[in-house]
Amino acid sequence: CMITQITLSLCGALKGAVTKPIVIHTMPASESWSPSSWKSKSIAQDVEYPDPKHLAKVLSKLETLPPLVTPSEIERLRNQLSLVQRNEAFLLHAGDCAESFDACTHENISAKIGLILSFSLILIWGARLPVVRIGRIAGQYAKPRSSPREKIGDREVLSFRGDNVNGLDPNDRTPDPERLLSAYFHSTATLNHVRGLLTSGFASLHQPRTWSLSHVRSPSLRTEFEAIVEGLSDALDFSRTIGVESGPSFEQGGGRGTVGEVDFYTSHEGLMLEYEQALTREFPLPVRAPAATHGHTAAKDNANTSSKAEKAFYNTSAHFLWIGDRTRQLTGAHVEYFRGIRNPIGIKVGPSMAGDELVRLLDIVNPRKEAGRVTLITRYGAGKIDDHLAGHIAAVQGSGHGVIWICDPMHGNTQTSASGLKTRHFGTIISELTACLRIHATCGSRLGGVSLEFTGELNEEGFSVTECVGGSMELGEQELGLRYQSFCDPRLNFEQSLDVAFLISNFLKK
Ligand code: PEP
Ligand code: MN
Repeated sequence: CMITQITLSLCGALKGAVTKPIVIHTMPASESWSPSSWKSKSIAQDVEYPDPKHLAKVLSKLETLPPLVTPSEIERLRNQLSLVQRNEAFLLHAGDCAESFDACTHENISAKIGLILSFSLILIWGARLPVVRIGRIAGQYAKPRSSPREKIGDREVLSFRGDNVNGLDPNDRTPDPERLLSAYFHSTATLNHVRGLLTSGFASLHQPRTWSLSHVRSPSLRTEFEAIVEGLSDALDFSRTIGVESGPSFEQGGGRGTVGEVDFYTSHEGLMLEYEQALTREFPLPVRAPAATHGHTAAKDNANTSSKAEKAFYNTSAHFLWIGDRTRQLTGAHVEYFRGIRNPIGIKVGPSMAGDELVRLLDIVNPRKEAGRVTLITRYGAGKIDDHLAGHIAAVQGSGHGVIWICDPMHGNTQTSASGLKTRHFGTIISELTACLRIHATCGSRLGGVSLEFTGELNEEGFSVTECVGGSMELGEQELGLRYQSFCDPRLNFEQSLDVAFLISNFLKK
């Protein structure tokens, strides 16, 4: 579990200190990289702070604060993602569009973890594959915006850029560097609670009923989920009886078949590069690190030279970071930053990406073609996926790059309802997802996972949010206003999410 990982990596760091690791620079000199080399490139979605000295003070404080995640946890995720790439596991990437500081509560965090666990259980049960869980959590505060300013009533104000930049209140739109510190501490509190939940039995597959299914009103959904829980209890009883319950599990970095506590990883869009840089730290590669890679690897170089340890730069603010669709310019600052970090990364791929551009991007961020390093998160929209996905798959296949393909059926399908609320139709989301599964199958590729915006959040009376239309609860447009709680993109609620889980699970069963 995570606690063991922390102990291991602390030992690793101590060991490294004693043996004086030798730094081997992995980039050719002509392309030297440093955590700040992005500053020489043009930056999209930049934030202008009125007081640069204040920003500098906050950043130097952030540089001294401890890492949120450890190199060995990051390596373990790389390893598990390499299994996804080999079709031996499925990736679930999910959570809020954006977290807010106010939503950092026990109830919200446990509801989110509970939904991610329920979703993954349905997938594991149907597909008989381990699921790698990455939450959009513990740092997903910044938001890219299509315009730097927006109109509110008859006023024009700076756009809201996420709780780590400015306030949602139109009178609080000046970027404030203190919010970056606040983001660090809210991430820490969130992650601490997640670690607590995961190591104290909440996540045990022996008690999935504790993940709060009580409020699911749809009888058919409840029945379907209960059937899985019953089946699982029987299977666990049986394994216990015949004594095969223990053994190296997927969660322990071994094969498949977890029944105990689960692994869980954090992620956010790496948008605020000053923050990401401050949390980027150089560490020796953990001893067991490199199994996930092939071709040129530190493991091979160092296999028999224990006194030498290669170092790498880890972004220690999250296990996984992704580049958004608005910041993936080949010569831009974000791509420059991402190419130097050791973490596994995601890249959003939308309709405006050209096939050769995608390949050039992969050459930049993964020159050694390491397995588990890049996840392509496609988000075209149900009406556009047929025009783009097959071409992108062919371009990547032709390049010799191995990637993980996952489907984000949310971001290409956002609409404005008659009442002016941003929404997404469940049917359109399913339509992009099923097209994605079909196109991968036709192209000799495989969909390795899904990226969703969902929430298990309930209101005070115990009702789910009403932000997306449709699903088995048949939510209508006129009902959107009832419990619309997102201040960012509309999320699937608990019931709608389980609907999606059953759909994928049934597809993978075949
Ligand atoms: C997001 O994932 O919330 C997002 C803004 O996505 P994209 O960059 O694909 O638009
Ligand atoms: Mn979003």
